[in-house]
Amino acid sequence: MIMRQLKFYYYRFLVIAILFAPLAPNLFAQEQYKENKKVTTIEEYKGGTFYPVQQYSQVDSKKSPKNIILMIGDGMGLAHIYAAMTANGGSLFLQNFINCGFSKTYSSSDYITDSAAGATALACGVKSYNGAIGVDPDKKPVANICELAGKMGLKTGLVSTSAINHATPACFVAHQSSRSSYEDISADFLKANIDVFIGGGVKSFENRKDGRNLSKELKDKGYQVLYKIEDIKKVQSGKLAGLTAEEHNLPMPERGEMLVPATETAINLLSQSKKGFFLMVEGSEIDFLAHNNNTTGVVKETLDFDRAIGAALAFASKNKETLIIVLADHETGGMTLNGGNNKSGDVTAKFSSTDHTGICVPVFAYGPGADQFGGFMENTEIGMKMQQLLKLQ
Ligand code: MG
Ligand code: ZN
Repeated sequence: MIMRQLKFYYYRFLVIAILFAPLAPNLFAQEQYKENKKVTTIEEYKGGTFYPVQQYSQVDSKKSPKNIILMIGDGMGLAHIYAAMTANGGSLFLQNFINCGFSKTYSSSDYITDSAAGATALACGVKSYNGAIGVDPDKKPVANICELAGKMGLKTGLVSTSAINHATPACFVAHQSSRSSYEDISADFLKANIDVFIGGGVKSFENRKDGRNLSKELKDKGYQVLYKIEDIKKVQSGKLAGLTAEEHNLPMPERGEMLVPATETAINLLSQSKKGFFLMVEGSEIDFLAHNNNTTGVVKETLDFDRAIGAALAFASKNKETLIIVLADHETGGMTLNGGNNKSGDVTAKFSSTDHTGICVPVFAYGPGADQFGGFMENTEIGMKMQQLLKLQ
């Protein structure tokens, strides 16, 4: 009797497995967070512990910077920021930024941009179509700020909580007509000359259709290739490729301390450059959790990103030659706040979308050159201003 029952379940399992086999690649794709359309909305964030926020002295914003740290909170609109601020008892490191403006995020193809066109605008200074990685609307490669900076002898770096070949960081390295060409994007890291990059994405470097092992190739080019943040943190000099997850790193709190130490390590390595540096730091998963309409997730990711901003400020306030720009590539979720309490840290949010929205996003600047980032700006204008300020043209 038991055997017959087991056999029945075995065959049933087999039939289900065969039926669903074609879906398997989708389930494991890097866009899983998006394709997983079943959104379980979480409106309430229950206040927890607060971290102290330091006040840093302002630096003369009229001078020109030697270094730029561009910090992209993917999908981070004003509601995401203010939810995090409320959750931290009413204050964020971001409050050290007194030069503020707005970025118009639309792409060449759509009123509502995706992260690829959004980052191409910032990295290359051109409006392109949704899905474009460092190419113009005719799919022609456009030089990105890392390439231009590298040519002038500046050091360059990328830090991301998502896979390092995901759309946002990809636009600062690669030139591909489609954001989903993950393995080609990773191969472009070998052509580029980025000094430091830390993020997820081991799979597309080491388990590839073309059989190449990009990690080995990176080592041959003189990179230290490391997989654990504890080891990455210890690096004091040289080129560094930190690959901390198969694809994306886990969201907070499961990810643990990754973004802050990665940002500190990158700054420590890049600031050894005599000619200056350009660093892009991405809080990638604010967007993921906003797609899922998860207020708690959005708050935790935005707080993690704010602490990375704190790490950048700790350096820039002493260094005095570094411009920090904090912005988003677009808003995600159409998030708004319906309630909150600065004492308890509780926040209630509602979402009007499970995708990106067309609303402009806030831009914050600190340090030399910061006074140039006020008012309404095209996202491409911000990209071009960074190049001008570093005298790359
Ligand atoms: Mg991103
Ligand atoms: Zn998104």
